[in-house]
Amino acid sequence: MSDPLQDLTDGHPLNDWMRKRICAYYKSRGQKALAIVDHGRVKRYRDFFVVVGDTGKYVVEDEFCSCDDFLHRGGRCAHILAVKVARVTGRFELIDLWYHEDLNTAPGGTAL
Ligand SMILES: [Zn+2]
Repeated sequence: MSDPLQDLTDGHPLNDWMRKRICAYYKSRGQKALAIVDHGRVKRYRDFFVVVGDTGKYVVEDEFCSCDDFLHRGGRCAHILAVKVARVTGRFELIDLWYHEDLNTAPGGTAL
């Protein structure tokens, strides 16, 4: 089976058929990725993409993610998949800031 994200990149729409393929190919990570995109939890900063996860924010850059799943299990985590889907479909929130600026200014942010 070919990578459904490659087909998405090649211009296939994100319809039910494509969603099923992503879930079949990437299993629970694919399912989670679609939920992240549907809930608008992908943000694009000037420097990189950030995904708002259940337990924190994760920085995603190409094939790298700052979450535990990626660091310990390796391979593409749900956040990397979500960013790929969001990128192709344009379903991300554009934030005109460098990521560290937002950390410093957001109310209740984690900056020290
Ligand atoms: Zn991740």
